[in-house]
Amino acid sequence: MPQQHLFDTRPAAWEEDDARERLVASVIFPTGPDQPFDYAVPDSLRDRIECGRRVRAPFGRGNRAVVGFCVQLENRHDVRRQLKSITDVVDTRNLLSPSMLRLTRWMADRYLSSWGQALETVLPAVVRKQTALKRITLVGISAEAAGQIDSLKGATPKQREILHYLGGQPAPIPTAALKSALGCTDAPIATLRRKGWIDAVARIVVPEEARLPVPPREADYVLNADQRVALDAMLAALHSHAQQTILIHGVTGSGKTEVYIQAIQEVVRFGRQAIVLVPEISLTPQTRDRFRARFDHVAVLHSHLRDAERNWHWQRIAAGEVSVVVGARSAVFAPVPNLGLIILDEEHETSFKQETTPRYHAREVALWRAQAETIPLVLGSATPSLESWHRARQGEFRLVEMPRRVLDRPMPAVGTIDLRNEFQNRRTRGAVSRKLHQSIAAALEQGGQVILLLNRRGFATHIQCPACGYVVRCPHCDLALTHHRQLDIALCHYCDYQMPAPVACPECDFSGIRYGGVGTQKLEAEIRTRFPDARVLRMDTDTMQAPGSHARALASFRDGQVDILLGTQMIAKGLDFPRVTLVGVVNADTALHLPDFRAAEHTFQLVTQVAGRTGRGERGGRVVVQTFSPDHPAIRSAMNHDYAAFARQELPIREALLYPPFAEMVRLVVRGPVEAPVREFIAELGRHFTRELKQIDTQSRLLGPAPAPFAKLRGMYRYHLQLQAIDGAKLRAMVREVLAAIVCPNEIQWSVDVDPLDML
Ligand code: ADP
Ligand code: ZN
Repeated sequence: MPQQHLFDTRPAAWEEDDARERLVASVIFPTGPDQPFDYAVPDSLRDRIECGRRVRAPFGRGNRAVVGFCVQLENRHDVRRQLKSITDVVDTRNLLSPSMLRLTRWMADRYLSSWGQALETVLPAVVRKQTALKRITLVGISAEAAGQIDSLKGATPKQREILHYLGGQPAPIPTAALKSALGCTDAPIATLRRKGWIDAVARIVVPEEARLPVPPREADYVLNADQRVALDAMLAALHSHAQQTILIHGVTGSGKTEVYIQAIQEVVRFGRQAIVLVPEISLTPQTRDRFRARFDHVAVLHSHLRDAERNWHWQRIAAGEVSVVVGARSAVFAPVPNLGLIILDEEHETSFKQETTPRYHAREVALWRAQAETIPLVLGSATPSLESWHRARQGEFRLVEMPRRVLDRPMPAVGTIDLRNEFQNRRTRGAVSRKLHQSIAAALEQGGQVILLLNRRGFATHIQCPACGYVVRCPHCDLALTHHRQLDIALCHYCDYQMPAPVACPECDFSGIRYGGVGTQKLEAEIRTRFPDARVLRMDTDTMQAPGSHARALASFRDGQVDILLGTQMIAKGLDFPRVTLVGVVNADTALHLPDFRAAEHTFQLVTQVAGRTGRGERGGRVVVQTFSPDHPAIRSAMNHDYAAFARQELPIREALLYPPFAEMVRLVVRGPVEAPVREFIAELGRHFTRELKQIDTQSRLLGPAPAPFAKLRGMYRYHLQLQAIDGAKLRAMVREVLAAIVCPNEIQWSVDVDPLDML
């Protein structure tokens, strides 16, 4: 088994004396079969090859030159003569440390992907391309010429002009800037350099992001008692010699970020680096500046970075020039040389799970890295995932509670409005009940700001014919189309299919086709009619497409140029606006009835998180939740800010049904353009799994196969099945074996999701 020797380093010198021995490299080809291939390493490449570098090698019968990762080097006696040789080493430096290489092997096992897919996941594409950092030349006047330009012998008028210009600059400038300012060519500049009258230096071009003004330095807060306890737990973990994971359950506004910052200061003091993972949505200038105001060398990694920026950050991080990496999911792979601490804030966020193969969860990857380096992992949330909560209760994680807001600010009062009554009494027209209207009016009157959450974009959320019942659906996805009024189209939110909004029923021609359901666009129109003097801003994926628009919108709200901010869940997360005195949840039930065993948990999280956006200033705040299910435990506990009560109620249900965190789960989705073969193939898979599951444990079970809740997407029919077992390792090994043995018909694709979060 080659894997056992994977991480042996280079052979000792005395071994090389043995003439029969040859250095053999095991190579993984991301584009090829999922297994390492052995190659001889010619002497000429011995000095350049290392584990973690990529090599070029002849592959297959045609000996095509293919690039793969060298994952193992070993001296061997028993080498077949005809072993092919590596032709080249592609990388001049290691892209992957031994530890990161091991991580990829683990990821492939844990998430049932190929090793090659895992290898490609941890390295940004731009780094794999090995694009060199761009350099430019800066020129400035030399010490010799400075101050005596007019007395220099042999200088032409043009040269003097250049020297005068450079002499007037406070610092060296790019050659290109000089040329365009004076309309000169390279020739006089080259001459001046030869004469030693100007100096030239090559500089790496620093991407725009890095040229941001440094925010003013901020001092540490004096921590309150709860913060002190949390920080002490983190410091103790840093100085202990065992890996520890700390779950900080801190209510919104309890000052978690300040604690993270002070713990990171300790890490940096010891010359080590920290990785802070936050949801993409939190990577706003606000978060960025909070870290940049406290640390000298911060890299902020988000998905909108340009290639050059990403490359630049990656190289600086790898060189140890960055002390704090703040980033979304994939920043968990940041190649810091001396990792001291990983923090995962808002650990319950589903965006930490990657939704393409390998479908890793950043929390699990972070835990692996923390264990490999024996360093602390800190998870923080006001609404921890039940998985992490359970692990804390089992003693695997240490739980730290921060139950109070900073400065003794109260939690906002939460009230519900029962939409059933509102509809019965016909008091409400539109989406805003009378009570919510009154609350908004009162908040605005007192000079407060208002946030309104509605987790559905578009104008009308479905178009239905009252005569024949026909619902206008996407022909490719079978999902109801949403009406977008500005463009007057019916749009599929999944695949972007669009058609002109119908004026009559496409099925029966009835002219009274109805546009029902309220999306954010319709809510905006209603709010503008109800509050004509208020300045309203809508935030959803439709209005936030331009780069930077998200940050601009939040900035204008923060600056008080907007009175009412309404939008989808992107307004619910992690933002700190002291002047918000009212949060309205227009319909808390949107996620409650989804066919997903986490529906209640997600609803609890969303309501709690959006409620946390108010009452952060001195004026206090309140929350109004409109719902058809005011007695639902998820909504009741969110009203009472009672996470523990929610967990107490929800966990027994999970346990009874053997759902996570009490069992591990693997989901398989099979899809194809024709339904019958998809159904047959998944039925066959199901039979294999049923047979194998019996070997695992008595409680393990198979749900399905069945059509997936989204039964047709982008023209593909989708079926799924779910496997559950107490012993996750056994379950995964079984699934891997079954999948390796099965022959998948043409045109059919399957994907496997370990610890799935997406159940649709
Ligand atoms: P959380 O991350 O728990 O939601 P934050 O870290 O954002 O909370 O803190 C909320 C606000 O309180 C921030 O504006 C922060 O600057 C401020 N803050 C944090 N710690 C203290 C403290 N000890 N004293 C006063 N204000 C604090
Ligand atoms: Zn569609």
